[in-house]
Amino acid sequence: MLDCAFYAYLPSTISEHYFKVLFQSTISPGPIMLERIRIVLIGTSHPGNIGGVARAMHNMGLADLALVAPRCEAITQDSISRASGADHLLHQANVHATLEDAVADCTLAVGASARSRTLPWPMLSPRELADRLPAECQTAESRVALVFGREDSGLTNAELQRCHAHVHIPTNADFSSLNLAAAVQVLAYECRMAWLSQADAPAVETNADDDLATHAELERYFEHLERTLIGIDFHDPDQPRQLMARLRRLYLRARPERMEMNILRGILSATEKAANTKPPKP
Ligand code: SAH
Repeated sequence: MLDCAFYAYLPSTISEHYFKVLFQSTISPGPIMLERIRIVLIGTSHPGNIGGVARAMHNMGLADLALVAPRCEAITQDSISRASGADHLLHQANVHATLEDAVADCTLAVGASARSRTLPWPMLSPRELADRLPAECQTAESRVALVFGREDSGLTNAELQRCHAHVHIPTNADFSSLNLAAAVQVLAYECRMAWLSQADAPAVETNADDDLATHAELERYFEHLERTLIGIDFHDPDQPRQLMARLRRLYLRARPERMEMNILRGILSATEKAANTKPPKP
């Protein structure tokens, strides 16, 4: 709750500026925006909820469903009955062992959370998220993941820190947690509204050099960064002090392009090389 309050008290000009930087673009969508949005469910434990999610997605024209380490069968009498005719999405769903695998090709990952966490992260309302989707889904390589957590415990801090931003559906503060399928329904509806409002807009050419780094490329960078920072004695993994979480937040906020990621990785390699060739301390 504290973190939400923190954002609520930010002057609106600061938060507007922040989100303009985070989602800097005004370009219009192609007609296939909804195909580029993936619903990712982590550790779901009730088949009926997976069925309800399939129904909510099909109602709103979404079709890309990914299940991460589900704790139940996805195709059961209950899930098929709750899907109410959208059970083809259950059969098409991709199952992954980890969140990283499920979003490896994604250029934007947004974690849906009923609660806010210790380290404040860029926070969006469903409408703010939807307003940005047309631009985010613009190129053929764009993929947006909307990530949902477990029925009993939501998303872990580590999972939330793998997302560029978080989305919170405003609810009664004393009773803030929606049923999983209901939460997907709200965000899927916002996706559809954004698509409907943009569907007639002309497509805009894009510059291939501007490709955003994918989630997998960012994760490779974070691993390399951590290794290098340990190697040069800047980071002590036994006393992490949220360093990597803070650095993640910084880089995810910057939305680096693929080319920029390559430059940053080159800098890390040169740093490692220089550190390894420097004379040992007397
Ligand atoms: N008991 C869990 C919430 C589980 S609800 C907790 O306290 O964290 C299952 C999932 O639905 C959540 O992980 C989240 O992804 C989504 N969800 C539920 N309510 C939400 C809300 N108000 N805003 C955003 N996402 C929500």
